[in-house]
Amino acid sequence: MAKFIQRLVKLKIISFLLLLSPTLALASVPIKNTSIPGGIAVIDFETNHSNPKGYYSNVPLYLQRVKNQHWQALVGIPLLTKPGKKEITIKDFSSRNFEFEVRDYSYTEQHITLKGKKKKYVNPNAAHMGRIKKERPLLSDARKVFSDAALSFGLFDRPVDGVTTSPFGLKRFYNGEARRPHTGLDFAGDVGTPIKAPADGKIILTGDFFFNGNGVFIDHGQGLVSVYIHMNKRLVEPGQLVKQGDIIGTIGQTGRTTGPHLHWVVYLNQTAVNPNLLLGNK
Ligand SMILES: [Zn+2]
Repeated sequence: MAKFIQRLVKLKIISFLLLLSPTLALASVPIKNTSIPGGIAVIDFETNHSNPKGYYSNVPLYLQRVKNQHWQALVGIPLLTKPGKKEITIKDFSSRNFEFEVRDYSYTEQHITLKGKKKKYVNPNAAHMGRIKKERPLLSDARKVFSDAALSFGLFDRPVDGVTTSPFGLKRFYNGEARRPHTGLDFAGDVGTPIKAPADGKIILTGDFFFNGNGVFIDHGQGLVSVYIHMNKRLVEPGQLVKQGDIIGTIGQTGRTTGPHLHWVVYLNQTAVNPNLLLGNK
């Protein structure tokens, strides 16, 4: 009941803002420009077009209208990007390129030892490789989902009320072997701790995957996709719409993990970005 009232109040505030100014209704996400590998570049541009499109390396971008003709492109920068000048393309009545600079940033190293049963995750055998290959297209298709309209507005809430452990971007080594960097943010928590949708969205994929264990993918629109893995329970199904704060599952230790935690990934233009950037100062 309390949640219902909260939502009602939220709705009232939103409709009040709608009356104040039509542009406020768009409620752009106030992201800080962080032009580093794993960061989000915020690129301002002006257009009179009502529905401009943006691209980075031919991948569609998240565009938001800030006010009147002032728009922004939010560009996820891959962790393994070399620093230097990059450019995006904006298509409205014509096609224009905008340059931006990716700055250098060094993430710290982490060495992980996997023992016993969990060793299969370091060098998977042939049977496991078959499963991994089958799952790969499902996971990559979910990352590539691009809904034309935004499904959520404003900054994200934290998905778990616990503390964060492994930060985003760590350079990882499993039993001494270099593996892909840590593309998520980890939250500590006991098995069964509820995980909440950080923003409104639509469930696009759920399943039990070899590396990820139990996972849930949420589409927030315009290439903004959030992912929850190593879950104990999944409590949502593909196609379901979720509201910010809805419980989507619980913390577990399924898949390649050394203990119970939530591994949270946020994709923007098919690129894993630092989820902290979506949280603002929360
Ligand atoms: Zn993690």
